[in-house]
Amino acid sequence: MTNFKNTLSTRKNHIPFLDLKLLNRDYEKSINEVLSKKIASGWYILGEEVKVFEKSFAEYCETKHCIGVANGLDALLLLLKASDFPKGSEVLVPSNTYIASILAISLAGLTPVLVEPDIHTYLIDPKKIEEKITKNTKAILVVHLYGKCCEMEPINEIAKRNNLKVFEDAAQSHGAIYQNKKAGNLSDGAGFSFYPTKNLGAMGDAGAVTTNDDVLASKIRALRNYGSGEKYVFEEQGINSRLDEMQAAILSVKLPNLDNENKVRQSIAKRYLTEINNPTITLPFAGTIMEDVWHLFVVRTRDRDKFREYLSQNKIGSDVHYPVPPHQQLAYKDWNNDSYPISEKIHQQVISLPLNATLLEEEVSYIIEKINSY
Ligand SMILES: *Cc1c(COP(=O)(O)O)cnc(C)c1O
Repeated sequence: MTNFKNTLSTRKNHIPFLDLKLLNRDYEKSINEVLSKKIASGWYILGEEVKVFEKSFAEYCETKHCIGVANGLDALLLLLKASDFPKGSEVLVPSNTYIASILAISLAGLTPVLVEPDIHTYLIDPKKIEEKITKNTKAILVVHLYGKCCEMEPINEIAKRNNLKVFEDAAQSHGAIYQNKKAGNLSDGAGFSFYPTKNLGAMGDAGAVTTNDDVLASKIRALRNYGSGEKYVFEEQGINSRLDEMQAAILSVKLPNLDNENKVRQSIAKRYLTEINNPTITLPFAGTIMEDVWHLFVVRTRDRDKFREYLSQNKIGSDVHYPVPPHQQLAYKDWNNDSYPISEKIHQQVISLPLNATLLEEEVSYIIEKINSY
């Protein structure tokens, strides 16, 4: 199996936040082989590779269906479009997510309603959901942010009581587990992204929907291809959001190693959680370390700029996910004066440490040592 340690180049004492070139290098030979075959086949859109990947990703998530689409945003958009909610219906979504979760709702002609997260888990707070439900609410779109599954048991219970659908934004949680079930199999349907930086990343844009609902699955299958179930017959106004054969082939090469990569992430997370002991750094909620896939290891600190500068001086890469909350973005001007204090605090204080399958033990030790002496 892939062993990044054998191929690691000298990083010249600089630890990048994420080194995609190195991450993908071990797959390069196998990918070149499948791509050569693909080029020779002459079939580039909706062919065997997409079918094969859909089947194996559905098996991986233990869902009945997987439908490959062009990206993660479209996966969420198609789930909502296929649900046929009346125009303007409200969909609850966490206030501290990546903008795509919220945009999908707007693009589907629906109204996003923001729910604050829990300050410890950074996930939608089930206790704050019910107060946001109105007669127009039709669904809850939860986000398994940073690789950790939301508390689906109370959320699904609230949904059932209020006759709402539940969808997952699983773009950051490939392989995450909640009560013995995988992310993507915890609701009526889920959207995945295979953007290159995700736990399972393509080499371009790619995404997928997973669901156990036969009707939803066949609708989305048609909607991703102009609304066509049968060639040149259009039952609905769909979009062009097909997963292409090249990306599907690449994903099929990488999927068998996803669990290994996630295990490396989990062991790094475990070290950070047990060995970082600087009182000015708030560590993420640990939960069950081996059920979280640690897409990002997000800590909080009061003076983020100063800490980031310190890391940079010590040649440690970092990133911020995300610096400005959705309700303060110009794209959602109507919300700019609204107050979501927990989200605001999170966005002001979070910083993501390097955590990926290419990191060496020595590098993890170095990062821990530097953070503890900050
Ligand atoms: C990456 C991401 C998306 C969007 O995926 P794309 O493939 O870039 O469209 C949606 N939601 C979350 C939480 C993400 O991290």
